[in-house]
Amino acid sequence: METILFLAHTDDDGALGRVALEALTGATQLRSQMPGAKLAFGILGADTATATQSASGCGADAFYAVAGVDFAASRYASDAAALEAICRAAGATIVVAPATARFNRVMPGVAQRLNGRIDTHVSGFTVNGDELRVQRGFYRQRMVATLTRSVRPWFLTVDGGVFQPWAGASAAVSVQMLDVTLGDALRRTTVTGYQAPEANAQTIRPDANLLFVAGVGWTKKQSDGQVHLDEAASAILGFLDKASASLGSSKSLVDQSSEGHNVFSFMSHLNQVGQTGATPRHPKGLSTCCHGEEPHVVGWRFIGERRAINLDANCGWAQGKADVVYVADAFELVRKITKLL
Ligand SMILES: Cc1cc2nc3c(=O)[nH]c(=O)nc-3n(C[C@H](O)[C@H](O)[C@H](O)COP(=O)(O)OP(=O)(O)OC[C@H]3O[C@@H](n4cnc5c(N)ncnc54)[C@H](O)[C@@H]3O)c2cc1C
Repeated sequence: METILFLAHTDDDGALGRVALEALTGATQLRSQMPGAKLAFGILGADTATATQSASGCGADAFYAVAGVDFAASRYASDAAALEAICRAAGATIVVAPATARFNRVMPGVAQRLNGRIDTHVSGFTVNGDELRVQRGFYRQRMVATLTRSVRPWFLTVDGGVFQPWAGASAAVSVQMLDVTLGDALRRTTVTGYQAPEANAQTIRPDANLLFVAGVGWTKKQSDGQVHLDEAASAILGFLDKASASLGSSKSLVDQSSEGHNVFSFMSHLNQVGQTGATPRHPKGLSTCCHGEEPHVVGWRFIGERRAINLDANCGWAQGKADVVYVADAFELVRKITKLL
């Protein structure tokens, strides 16, 4: 019989982050598909009370926590010690954890300490009889593999955007606080703070709720016969800043930039979405000045609700590829939305 352990860390505000809540939904669904399986909840952080309380109704049979200032920030040595202790206390055979930067760094090491195996970027579970199978994309998500393993414990880090965030009423639960003592050797690294680029400097933001895509139309002559690059740049950056959105691009726009034409300095090929670009995951997407041709739209596979702004009522987005198409001037509309934001 499997014991599924859901693992999470608190965010800076003491709560569970979105990706963690999504992975919790995945863990509860997995448990419901495996009759007889036990579910345990494990968490680490400076103060784990708020996060544990918010997830207390998830139906776990046991709750474990490692809390204290030593576990506030992401540090490999202390995180690995805490997670190892939780896995051992829970007797976990399957570990489900969110693919956050903090866990991506430490989880393979924890799997190694427990002589287990790990699969990362998991995008789905299926259960066939007693056998658990997981899905994972390869080759820029163009191929989906279904994997199974007999080795336990089996660690699975789940990508964001796969499950709905868990939401449920809280319940009275008893939490086992595990005492993890850290020697000086495990405290040699000190986290002094974050250095994060401004929202408008770091345009690719995998955790954003919205993907904002710019197409080459932003650089074309507009109805007055003129090109308005500066206005385009300020409209795009203004919106990104207000909406904290992630910036995607069509291939034509980033190709144009790199050929020495009029460059949007905040954009590179890394922003390109599509067949030969990225396949990001976001709950929502807004395409602007982009035609919506198939090689581009194929990169929207994991975008939830899709909207597009295009002057052309017959653009590709209107051919069943978007939920809503605004037939409008993106310069005007994006400026207006930004003002409202
Ligand atoms: C093998 C192969 C791989 C490819 N891979 C990719 C890929 O990974 N990603 C990708 O994006 N493309 C890819 N492409 C290219 C793709 O087919 C399209 O050529 C490209 O996506 C077009 O970019 P676009 O929509 O920005 O430009 P365009 O097709 O020129 O469209 C510009 C749009 O802007 C609109 N517009 C102009 N002004 C305004 C305004 N003021 N307001 C609103 N709308 C306006 C126009 O109506 C037009 O629809 C690939 C092609 C091939 C052959």
